[in-house]
Amino acid sequence: AAQTQKTFKLNTGAHIPAIGLGTWQDEAAQEAAVLVALQAGYRHIDTAQCYGTEPAVGRAIKQSGVPRSEIFVTSKLWNHKHHPDDVAQSLQQTLDDLGLEYLDLFLMHWPVAFKRGDDPFPSDKDGNIITEDIDYVETYKAMDAVRKTGKTKAIGVSNFSRKELERILENSPTVPAVHQMELHPWLQQKDWAEFHQKKGIHVTQYSPFGNQNEIYGGREDHGQLVNDQKLVEIGKKYGKTSAQIALAWGISHGRSVIPKSKSPERIMQNFDIAFELQDSDIEEIDKLDKKLRFNDSSKDFGYDLFS
Ligand code: NAD
Repeated sequence: AAQTQKTFKLNTGAHIPAIGLGTWQDEAAQEAAVLVALQAGYRHIDTAQCYGTEPAVGRAIKQSGVPRSEIFVTSKLWNHKHHPDDVAQSLQQTLDDLGLEYLDLFLMHWPVAFKRGDDPFPSDKDGNIITEDIDYVETYKAMDAVRKTGKTKAIGVSNFSRKELERILENSPTVPAVHQMELHPWLQQKDWAEFHQKKGIHVTQYSPFGNQNEIYGGREDHGQLVNDQKLVEIGKKYGKTSAQIALAWGISHGRSVIPKSKSPERIMQNFDIAFELQDSDIEEIDKLDKKLRFNDSSKDFGYDLFS
């Protein structure tokens, strides 16, 4: 499966596998999850310094015996390491934790800088995050400088607004290879996604099932995306689950997807989507948009995101 799986070409010329494994939350389960995924044929793993899952991902990659060159590994710069003088060191920490020589993709996790230092969540006495006035353009330029050292093959952004992304494009010769953002049938952002296509920026859909964990409060308010009747109904035509349909929809639009699961059965199910959705079904799913964003940290971060 590893040899035949679908990939998308990045503006660097490298290929990103259409399906990756997400590793946010359930830190203790991630080593086993990543190993199962690699054995099932996944060749794309998404982690981040702030998830605390880099060591587990690294151990699983080693255990799998899959050659490093066959795996696409993404990690992310956390918000307290935005100062240009901190970026190279933070990437080195990530590599050390992963036990790897290089990343395939290094993303700026959020456009907001937290106070510089060792505390990933620096907060005042009332528990409010302390931000710092560091321009993400300068952070991006520092990421571009480490790219040139070969410690990462590509750089990109995550959770950027249009205004923020346009500033990057105006101020750096290196177009981000990838923008990783929340995107699923209930948050489609059609025009925004098309903007990326025009600029040659690949979109990776995070939370392709809307996350659905209690921390978002998603369950009570909106139900679960995987229970969307339309997705379930379309799935029946193909003998697939609603989850598989949601992933196939993203891929049909040219985007990679990074579903997270710690259950072997679901890890395999989420990878088993080598079928083509008919155009009429893609169009039906295109109509399910609810502009429903589950992951908006504006309040927690004290920064107006996505505006
Ligand atoms: P997700 O949308 O992948 O949903 C995960 C949940 O869906 C699981 O906990 C499980 O309960 C359920 N699930 C998994 N497979 C299923 C299946 N086949 N059927 C039914 N339910 C299933 O949520 P996520 O973890 O938020 O997003 C995926 C990954 O994206 C993360 O793990 C992380 O790697 C990345 N991410 C990045 C950012 C960012 O800021 N860049 C933010 C959030 C997530």
